[in-house]
Amino acid sequence: MASDSVSVYGTDGLPRPQWWHHTGMRRLAALAPGWRLYDEVHRHTQYNSELCADLQRRRLRTVLDVAADADPAHCDEVDPLDELSRRPVMTKQRLLTDLDRLRTNLVDPVDVLRVSTSGRTGEPVVIDHEEQLLVENLADQLRMFAAYGLAPDVRVLRVTCDPRQDLISFVPEPHHSVGVQLSMNVAKLDPANAAFVGRLCQEFAPEVLLGPPMEQLVTAWKIQSGMMANLGITMIWTYGDSLDALTRHVLAEVHHASVRDLYSLEEFGPVAWECPEAAGTYHINEERVLVERDGDGALVMTNLINRAMSIIRYRPEDQAQLIEEPCRCGRTLRRLTAIEGRQRGLIIDRLGNPMSVEPLRLRIQALGLPGWHVSQDNPGSIEVTMVASDEHHLETGTLSHDIRQALNQNTATVRIVSHDNLIETQGPTPQFHLFATQQYYAARLQSQLSR
Ligand SMILES: [Zn+2]
Repeated sequence: MASDSVSVYGTDGLPRPQWWHHTGMRRLAALAPGWRLYDEVHRHTQYNSELCADLQRRRLRTVLDVAADADPAHCDEVDPLDELSRRPVMTKQRLLTDLDRLRTNLVDPVDVLRVSTSGRTGEPVVIDHEEQLLVENLADQLRMFAAYGLAPDVRVLRVTCDPRQDLISFVPEPHHSVGVQLSMNVAKLDPANAAFVGRLCQEFAPEVLLGPPMEQLVTAWKIQSGMMANLGITMIWTYGDSLDALTRHVLAEVHHASVRDLYSLEEFGPVAWECPEAAGTYHINEERVLVERDGDGALVMTNLINRAMSIIRYRPEDQAQLIEEPCRCGRTLRRLTAIEGRQRGLIIDRLGNPMSVEPLRLRIQALGLPGWHVSQDNPGSIEVTMVASDEHHLETGTLSHDIRQALNQNTATVRIVSHDNLIETQGPTPQFHLFATQQYYAARLQSQLSR
């Protein structure tokens, strides 16, 4: 697939986009080659391990050849898999410090698609992708739709708790093939607007409810508490965070729908999707990512479709088991199971409304501190601990006031400590310790359902 588009996604020092270089336009442009890639390749490689392995090898050969640190003396006769196995595993820290060196400069800066990781294990990482990401996304999406029995023009209701988003937005979503998407900020749903939102949802008649597990739980909670009518959807589709077993169970109960989960990372795009016939196991999109396991069970992945940045044997610090045996569905794509990645919590305001942590995270990250931690044990009360030196000139009073206002809290305590006294929580989200987790919401819903 040649990346011959002239579109731009201009951020972070990239050339400013022309008005027609719109992400939506680029995704639309990727529809035709993505559809063809699905029809001619991905539809077949999922059932033919030899075909898939051959494609993987050829793509890996290219990835190794264009890497900035490629061995110029390498011989084409060498099996790329052998060459790969001799390369060191790349930690997140190395990815951060070597970002510039990993950029290959093979893709015209105006064609680079730049995305930022969530920063769940510390600093966010800015990843460069090329056009092929959108094309592969579409092909993989179509493959998943076909497996789930969804038509390409599926109607998707996406739920969010991001305070920066409106109650309702109408989103053209070529990212989901030619589907139609309505986006709802479920955290902003209240008794005053419930009737309006209810009518809108009824008119829209969504088939799929899309959102991260926490946002799905908040939606289920609103339905269960009577603020929202049951949506009559047939499928719940989660992504972003590791899906807890109890969360899966209560979501299926509330909606009387099947739950399907997607494992994706900004560094790669959608990595693996849950098999409809073997729940809890995820077929890897092996045409785009080569997955290995490190000695301690952590996943190690190589991006096979990105000529803009070399992400080779990278360890995103997610754990999973790898299933080599063929699946009962007949697909030969290997599977992941028992995936342990991140699980974010939500911040709860003084009125009991949930909100995602992203705006607060961005705000604190902008201060450029060497360390920080946020904790919430009760609705409406938040504690922020920061490591700062004199050069940061932090006014704790002003900060505390701003955070209290922005997050609608009764109290916001800001403390400055030395690095030794910063207590970070263990686990995949060390910077946040929040009581409103998947386990918390799912358990409350479960107890309500069993009444
Ligand atoms: Zn399967």
